[in-house]
Amino acid sequence: MNHRIEFNRRVERIPVYPAASTYAFEGELVKLASNETPYPPHPQVLEAIEAQLRTLNRYPDPEKSLLRRRISERTGVPIGRVAVGNGSCEILLAAAEAMLEPGAEVVYAWPSFSIYPHLAAMAGARAVTVPLGESGEHDLEAMAREVTAATRLVIVCNPNNPSATALSPATIDAWVGELPRHVAVILDEAYVEFSTLQDPDDSLDLLERHPNLVVLRTFSKVYGLCGLRAGYALGAESFRLAVDRVRQPFSVNALAQAAAAEALGHQDEVERRVERNTIERVHVESELEARGLATTDSEANFSWVSLGDRDEDEIVDGLARRGVIVRAGRALGEAGRMRVTYGTRSENDRFLAALDELL
Ligand code: PMP
Repeated sequence: MNHRIEFNRRVERIPVYPAASTYAFEGELVKLASNETPYPPHPQVLEAIEAQLRTLNRYPDPEKSLLRRRISERTGVPIGRVAVGNGSCEILLAAAEAMLEPGAEVVYAWPSFSIYPHLAAMAGARAVTVPLGESGEHDLEAMAREVTAATRLVIVCNPNNPSATALSPATIDAWVGELPRHVAVILDEAYVEFSTLQDPDDSLDLLERHPNLVVLRTFSKVYGLCGLRAGYALGAESFRLAVDRVRQPFSVNALAQAAAAEALGHQDEVERRVERNTIERVHVESELEARGLATTDSEANFSWVSLGDRDEDEIVDGLARRGVIVRAGRALGEAGRMRVTYGTRSENDRFLAALDELL
């Protein structure tokens, strides 16, 4: 007799998200594998979280009113067009649930963010992937050529994870304008604050011109709240209503809502982190270059490093044995590379020293 429980067919199609490897290491690990910020939350963000602790016997606000109001005030986008999620990942998956189905298509570049393949897989839709250009940038023209009557969604990750490159808002603006209006474009700006090509506010102007555009952002990167899970989308009100419909009402917990709302008020801290990141980016990129390792032009908080003919596993495992965790390129869609997040100066120097032992 068969005692095994049964699952639906789509479960087999959904890839397993490539989690960062952990490693048994005596001593403090240098975690440069998940594009996190190395800095702890702002003290007033911690206070906002603490203030919520005593009311955790109550459900969180299903309307996420305070956080959505603060996002609306900061961006100038009406509150009805602000959707909040349990991380921006949740909004991506909800968009798949709300927009995709068998027969529908979603277009995105590859390599790009590891969760995108889940969207088509979970919905039984078709994923159309377009290779990145030579320098790791999106090939927007090739992506536009893949748009058909069946396309519901196109995703542009800007700056792109894992290739770290970015396009200017003007380039994206012109390109979105050429796409058919029935196609929703999600502009995933998880790393936008780190880009020197634009001010984060610049992409908000695009929302006024393109009713089919959704700008996706997160509190996980520069705001440093990935442990709590909060992200948001700015777009059509119909998009917010749809992604709210397919999710449980309480997916964004009370601590995350309070912390994110408070964090938005500390833009001086955001600026400090961005400045620090830029300094570390220049340092890491020039040190890698001095070691003969080419990187793409990073506009993010990580580098996409070409390992040439060196053995990827040897380097990535060798770093891990020395207590430095980075991501192997193969797991992210392109062998012969590694993705390394910028940490503090001492963390970055530990990474470089460990690398020297391996090269
Ligand atoms: N988009 C991109 C491009 C990312 O790299 C990430 C996180 N790695 C996310 C979205 C999701 O972040 P979160 O769910 O933490 O908001």
